[in-house]
Amino acid sequence: MKLTLNTQIFIAAAAGILLGLWFSALGTTTPFVSHALRVCSVIGGVFIALLKMILIPLVFSSIAVGIANLRAHQQMNKVWQITLIYYFTTTMLAVLLGLVSVHLFQPGVGLHLGMFQDKMANFNTQSLSVGEFLENFLKNLFINPFEAMAGGHILATIVFAIFLGIALVIAGDRRAKTILNLLTEFFDLIMMIVGWIMWLLPLGIFCLLTKLVATQNPSLFQALAKFIFVVIGATLFHGFVTLPLILVFLGKQDLKTYYRSVREALITALSTSSSSATLPITYRCVEENLKVDKNIAGFVLPLGATINMDGTALYEALAALFIANLAGVHLYLGQQIIVFLMAILASIGAPGIPSAGMVTMVMVLQSVGLPAEAIAILIPVDRLLDAIRTMVNVKGDTVGCVVVQRFVRK
Ligand code: ASP
Repeated sequence: MKLTLNTQIFIAAAAGILLGLWFSALGTTTPFVSHALRVCSVIGGVFIALLKMILIPLVFSSIAVGIANLRAHQQMNKVWQITLIYYFTTTMLAVLLGLVSVHLFQPGVGLHLGMFQDKMANFNTQSLSVGEFLENFLKNLFINPFEAMAGGHILATIVFAIFLGIALVIAGDRRAKTILNLLTEFFDLIMMIVGWIMWLLPLGIFCLLTKLVATQNPSLFQALAKFIFVVIGATLFHGFVTLPLILVFLGKQDLKTYYRSVREALITALSTSSSSATLPITYRCVEENLKVDKNIAGFVLPLGATINMDGTALYEALAALFIANLAGVHLYLGQQIIVFLMAILASIGAPGIPSAGMVTMVMVLQSVGLPAEAIAILIPVDRLLDAIRTMVNVKGDTVGCVVVQRFVRK
């Protein structure tokens, strides 16, 4: 019997989690376990490296070709407008949910900052003011394209590809047909390579999940149990209630087909904790299984992987209020509105890599005068929370594709 890739991935994910739990029970310092984890680490690392290898060529060609085709068919305006409206609205909904959850469940009650003093004592944070953040963000948009691609700067690669896509249309068939054909063929070849990498998905997911689960430290979770519970609950609510409602009512998409189509991408996001590394898989799922126009997906997904992060935005707002609670600081409505806006900005600025949200979190805390060192409390539990929020980040992008396609075609 030949198992489908989807089934193999499910089995791999379940086996990875079970093995991880067993390793964790045995203790990660046991020679056998530490050896096995080393092997998982190497295989998982190679798998992520393969995804990253293909990422920049994929982003570059998909955006340039997508923009050129959409503009040529006069659909570009509609696509980017609906994309941005969708991204902004869903991120706002996520942050609101984060803020409401803290008020409802008060995860900081019974805890105070002093309990974590030793953790914070040795922790040095770099300050990150809003001005610096914006300056960096803008500067990073425009980089020499070769440097951007070589250095893996996705946002700058996207910006250059957008310029190139527009130039291709303006130059028209007479002046730039060869380059457009070349890019289109290049893009098809890249997608072929993504198809090969997908055969390694079960093994990659198995190794990454085994390592993720085995290396969690349960004792750290106890003190923060309520906080973790609220974060996971709110993130899953956004991912599995809010987004599906949008998908069904605005995207007119049935859920069964949707989940069957994007399952690989969601599990990859969960095991890599990186929206960017997951992008090649997301792209294939959305284009091949969900049948979203490749020009639309080629624009919406790369942009989404870098700026649309619902799970991250929700987390930043929730965690900031939690830390205010610990520090015994009462945030007034005005300050909560600042947290709301900052969380959105921080999620836009965070690159799609593991724990990126932790870095931009500093800015959210500082904007309302909270101690930045307090993120030392959150870092030890971040691996698990990051996995879940990344899955929701990626889900938001896939739902976006369906919604954008529907409204563009309307
Ligand atoms: N790991 C997340 C992502 O790649 C970003 C973050 O919240 O840290 O989407």
